[in-house]
Amino acid sequence: MKTLLFHRLAILSMGFLVFAAAPTTAEDAPVYAIIVHGGAGSSPAQLGEKARQGREQAVERVLRVGVNVLKDGGTSLDAVEKVIRAMEDDPIFNAGKGSVFNSAGGHELDASIMDGRDLSCGAVAGVGVIKNPISLARLVMTKTRHVLLAGDGAERFGREMGVELVGQDYFSTEAARKRWQRSKKKEESGAGKQGAAFDSVRPSYLGTVGCVALDRFGNISAGTSTGGLSNKKYGRIGDSPIVGAGTYADNRTCGVSCTGIGEHYIRNAIAYDISAQMKYRKCTVKQAVDMAINKTLKPGYGGIIALDRNGNMAAGYNTGGMTRGMANSKGLFVVRLGKDPQ
Ligand code: ASP
Repeated sequence: MKTLLFHRLAILSMGFLVFAAAPTTAEDAPVYAIIVHGGAGSSPAQLGEKARQGREQAVERVLRVGVNVLKDGGTSLDAVEKVIRAMEDDPIFNAGKGSVFNSAGGHELDASIMDGRDLSCGAVAGVGVIKNPISLARLVMTKTRHVLLAGDGAERFGREMGVELVGQDYFSTEAARKRWQRSKKKEESGAGKQGAAFDSVRPSYLGTVGCVALDRFGNISAGTSTGGLSNKKYGRIGDSPIVGAGTYADNRTCGVSCTGIGEHYIRNAIAYDISAQMKYRKCTVKQAVDMAINKTLKPGYGGIIALDRNGNMAAGYNTGGMTRGMANSKGLFVVRLGKDPQ
């Protein structure tokens, strides 16, 4: 199998995992490469066989969507948008349909996208009627001189742009409602304070989605989309729409998408930090992700995917697992939820 060409290194550092491809140089770089995540959370064993398979299949499906765009000569921006749209439409993920409930019983969605060619980027925060926030984020990037639109203004812009609108009910699922009830109970008991790690008693995959792609033109793009944290305070905005925290892309270094407790990713400017580690300290993408996961962030905070200009990919998490998939033009195609191999 061609996948054997891909020599995966699983580095166990301080108990947390960072997976990376064997280093690729400019000469033997793949023509295209793509990495996706479907959120950090519990381990596959805690999740159960059926749910695990469902997630693997969902990630496999969207990874193919991205590969097809890139294989056909499409841009990394198109691949990222298309993959994330597909994940937003799949209720298994906490993005678009299937988004978590906030403390007021509603849904407020966040998303961002970035183009590594020129650092242009766009984001929307706290939107409640936009079916595909990632596409609206892209429109903010291309059709306005701004980076981030929030709430009513972002929705008004969506209407002007003619994007598909839905009612709040569209986003609600039974699974998300149950999770909300659990989160409420947990917070009432004082266990869900800001900074607390993911729920280890009743673990669940949080299901934020992200994608980073490198196209045959050498351009890197990254995007992230989420319903946020279950039972989050109304009006709360996480890291996913904050460029530099949840998403970053720079052709000179890498593209990054994060998942986890957003407040920590904002405080530490994690997505930019990974790019900066590469830029100023000449770290590899794997070293930079490793540093963020094992040194900057604390156990239970979340996960990161990243991809550099030579198609080197890294996925790290300090939770029980992170749904993720990687593919490239050299035949690599892998989907994982926990340790490698599971
Ligand atoms: N980072 C997201 C947020 O804090 C949640 C997640 O990744 O699960 O909104």
